[in-house]
Amino acid sequence: MKVPYFDLPAQIRSVRPELDAAIARTLDNCSFCLGPDVVAFERDFAAFCGAPHAVGFNSGTSALHVALLLLGVGPGDEVITTPFTFVATSWAISYVGARPVYVDIDDATCNLDPALVERAITPRTKAIMPVHLYGQPCDLDAIGAIAQKHGLPLVEDAAQAHGALWRGRPVGTFGAISGFSFYPGKNLGACGEAGALVTTDAAFAERARSLREHGARVRYYHDEVGYNYRMEGIQGAVLGVKLKYLAAWTAARRRIARRYAELLRDTPLKLQTELAGSESARHVFVVRHPRRDELKAHLEKNGVGAALHYPVPLHLQKCYAPLGYKAGDFPVAEAAARECLSLPMFAELTDDQLAYVAAQVRTFFKT
Ligand SMILES: *Cc1c(COP(=O)(O)O)cnc(C)c1O
Repeated sequence: MKVPYFDLPAQIRSVRPELDAAIARTLDNCSFCLGPDVVAFERDFAAFCGAPHAVGFNSGTSALHVALLLLGVGPGDEVITTPFTFVATSWAISYVGARPVYVDIDDATCNLDPALVERAITPRTKAIMPVHLYGQPCDLDAIGAIAQKHGLPLVEDAAQAHGALWRGRPVGTFGAISGFSFYPGKNLGACGEAGALVTTDAAFAERARSLREHGARVRYYHDEVGYNYRMEGIQGAVLGVKLKYLAAWTAARRRIARRYAELLRDTPLKLQTELAGSESARHVFVVRHPRRDELKAHLEKNGVGAALHYPVPLHLQKCYAPLGYKAGDFPVAEAAARECLSLPMFAELTDDQLAYVAAQVRTFFKT
């Protein structure tokens, strides 16, 4: 049997007639940059998040970049964030000329450790940027309380956490601004690049719309230096179709995660903890073991796709050498980078495939 890490063709097949019709509509109306389908998707995605405003972007990275611009973060400023994430979280900080200040993660969730956040705050700190890694919400009570106490805005990187719940409420509105990604591999994926900025603040939303479109509220009248960060019309149309299925896909991911947990319970693997009061969007199903690389090779040899999220923490990336961090600075993140392995996780994963993956994991530990 073959089990891919992620079966995008199966997902596309499942909604293909609707995607064809939506894309054809865009070819008819020729609204290729923003346009009515983007407007409709923004409205629907905001509703999905329980937020008053969603602004469509051409990527999650650009949405996060604009989030920090809206908060006035700039050169000389610091933003507290996690070293264990996809690099784009830190790109947003670097793009505005600020400095990422890393804080180690919590071993149970691989998310920013709230207990370590407060002592990283300095007079230069301008924001806290947690990531809901793997779809698991951060401890938003603890991080929110620290942010509030110090008057610091929270920017949620929700790129992996569409529909993840914290105390019954979707993530993305706990901070001043949040960024979502619709990269094709995310829980809600475009047929290309796309992202969104979500906010409860009308003024932020309005300026975000201007910044994504060359800094102009009125065409050819440029209030400030802006960007070409518009969402494409075709992506708005595609996302509008897929959004209708997101709740069902997320429910399927949660069911698969529960089943994995049952089947792997008595193996030597360490599983991720879901914090009390939270429900993960289950973007990635991570297991941990010191022999991670051997296990990955074993799975691949037997037709099971597996992935690493992420093999090198950001403080040890070449691009961030100028920040002056060294190995050993964030031991929990460094151990996670060595031990985490992502098993196949997608809504279309069948029970047979799931059982096969679990059986292959068991075989590895028996030999
Ligand atoms: C995917 C991702 C991003 C960036 O989103 P893009 O749409 O690929 O630009 C940012 N942060 C995290 C945690 C991500 O997983």
